[in-house]
Amino acid sequence: IPQELEELFQQLNPEQRAAACHDTGPLLIIAGAGTGKTTTLSHRVAYLISQGIDPSRILLLTFSRRAANEMIRRVDNLLRALGAGRERSVAEARSRSIWGGTFHSTAARLLRRYGQAIGLPDDFTIIDRSDSEDLMSSIRSELELGNNGKKFPRKGTLLEIYSRCVNTCSKLEPILEQHYPWCLEHVDDLKKLFQAFVDRKEKQNILDYDDLLIFWHALAADPAGGKLLRGQFEAVLVDEYQDTNVLQSGILKNLSPEGEGLTVVGDDAQSIYSFRAATVRNILDFPQAYPGTTIVTLEENYRSTQPILQATNQIIDEAHERYEKNLWSSKLTGEAPFIVDCSDNNEQADFVVQQVLEHREAGIPLQKQAVLFRASNHSLPLEVELARRNIAYHKYGGLKFIETAHVKDLMAYLRLAENPRDAVSGLRVLTLLPGIGQKKAQQLLNVLAESQFRFDVWSEFKPPAATVEHWPLFVRLMNNLASPQSEKKGISAEVHQVRTFYAPILDQQYDNASARQRDLEQLEQVASRFSSRMSFLEEITLDPPSSTQDVATGSDKADDDFLVLSTIHSSKGLEWDAVYVLQAADGSIPSEMSLESEEEIDEERRLFYVALTRAKNWLYVCFPHRQYFQNRRWNQAHSYAQLTRFVSSKTLSLFQRRPAFNAEDLDTPQEAQIETTAEDIRKNLRNMWTA
Ligand code: ATP
Ligand code: MG
Repeated sequence: IPQELEELFQQLNPEQRAAACHDTGPLLIIAGAGTGKTTTLSHRVAYLISQGIDPSRILLLTFSRRAANEMIRRVDNLLRALGAGRERSVAEARSRSIWGGTFHSTAARLLRRYGQAIGLPDDFTIIDRSDSEDLMSSIRSELELGNNGKKFPRKGTLLEIYSRCVNTCSKLEPILEQHYPWCLEHVDDLKKLFQAFVDRKEKQNILDYDDLLIFWHALAADPAGGKLLRGQFEAVLVDEYQDTNVLQSGILKNLSPEGEGLTVVGDDAQSIYSFRAATVRNILDFPQAYPGTTIVTLEENYRSTQPILQATNQIIDEAHERYEKNLWSSKLTGEAPFIVDCSDNNEQADFVVQQVLEHREAGIPLQKQAVLFRASNHSLPLEVELARRNIAYHKYGGLKFIETAHVKDLMAYLRLAENPRDAVSGLRVLTLLPGIGQKKAQQLLNVLAESQFRFDVWSEFKPPAATVEHWPLFVRLMNNLASPQSEKKGISAEVHQVRTFYAPILDQQYDNASARQRDLEQLEQVASRFSSRMSFLEEITLDPPSSTQDVATGSDKADDDFLVLSTIHSSKGLEWDAVYVLQAADGSIPSEMSLESEEEIDEERRLFYVALTRAKNWLYVCFPHRQYFQNRRWNQAHSYAQLTRFVSSKTLSLFQRRPAFNAEDLDTPQEAQIETTAEDIRKNLRNMWTA
């Protein structure tokens, strides 16, 4: 280790240090939560750079842009020591040139650069999952599939089935048999649909998320293409490897057939994405796939206190699969984790708010606390309460900013200008115009295609009365955006033009129009940071910011304090001083949709485990007893839930059980003390008019 780094590497334990300073042979770090895997990985990147590897020849794959940025920031800090004496910016500039990001965003970058090698045009646009679903469903109705009166899968399920097949490289029938047996009767229709889906994306020059991996994989597997890519990277490092799928491991294999320069890091007990075709086999079979692999395991957990760790260890020990982790912590003292009994969701929300504020009083800012939940709607009562009390929060996972209708609308204009063949966007913007339906819109797109995609052909169209005013403005807008001069004026100027045109439509379409207008203003601000329309579209589609605040600041601002609300899936790899887990009831976690198979229940257990292992010092597992639902006559009804099965009686003994509120805390009105009666009030009301 170079002298300058010595001090910083001192804080690693011997195993971590050996891993960080490992030579270039294949390396697997497989270890439990909070043992410093990610920490070791960033030290390793710094080490490789200190050994003279050019940062631009390092590929660092993580599961989100946030995670990648965080890691690069840490590498920056480490390199600053190396660059000490030199200018600080030198070190920073160096780590900035690392290829860091998700598999998907890296795929997009590489395919633009090298895709021609496999005959892929470099001007493709990318659509997100919900666009793919919409495309699927519009093809389905066009081809009139599944109209025999038998239940046909919905668009979300259609995409899920398709995705599972292509991501696991398997045929349709076995996937249906295993996961969607009720769809087997539609197998022929599904095949027709999926084939048309592939054709349609080609015709429109669009790639969806799955395509990005498939094409990258194909490029890497091609002899010449693989050579190009191998020349690009000297070291490839992957965090959270337990959540990769067959395509992703195949990509790595092609990037580095012998595992030279390859480091993967993960925890099989935290694999939570098998519903997206991830397979824990990747990490377990890594040593077989790469003979000569050095395996590093870590056992000291630096994140959680021993009492919290004891409880989480117990939960994972009771899984069907065996995970031999033996995690221990040297933080011996600390509050045992809580199971908090709440009467219902609302009390749960009140409890969380009160406890969060109490911790804040005691010096733990909101940013160091987080609320985690299985499903996005579990946090709704809490969000209402936070808003009412004016407590700032950011929500991660669930519906993202970019997935809101108005943002998608705005992006669709830009995407159509970028790629006039993109009919998903074309249909979207055309049908936004009053009086234009699917059928008319489709005709207009056909006309566009026949005229070599020149938008002015639309000026000959006689619009229906409802849209007479909008139409010429619309055609002019599209013409402007498509002209070569447009982009030179800057992408935020383009967003501004679209926004101006779209404002009256937005007003008519949505209730809370002014809040939505503000979102779009924010988006205009963000756009100014991008040098091309393509890069703007790509960034926003592939790694969408989670909330408007994120959009406004580009990152989480350090100076204003906010509470994090996150789905468990999006909390992977992160940690907070205090963690609140909502809705720890059977049916919520494990989710009632998972109850039919042992494997799915085990995945839910790992998910629960991921949630609980995010906590450093305080852990509150909330259990609302009463659950409301709408009964068949649409009346509110309620039932009593069971505590999640993942807290066995043995586990329970490692928790402290407490009610959300002690009886004496509650200021329930005592009947006897109340002196005013309803009759008095009425009397006053009557008297008002007689005097
Ligand atoms: P996860 O499985 O949740 O992704 P991880 O194994 O990646 O966890 P890290 O996030 O790298 O763990 O580390 C957990 C915490 O422990 C961090 O706060 C980190 O700074 C700290 N940590 C890691 N290694 C050490 C060490 N050798 N000494 C002190 N603290 C450490
Ligand atoms: Mg980690």
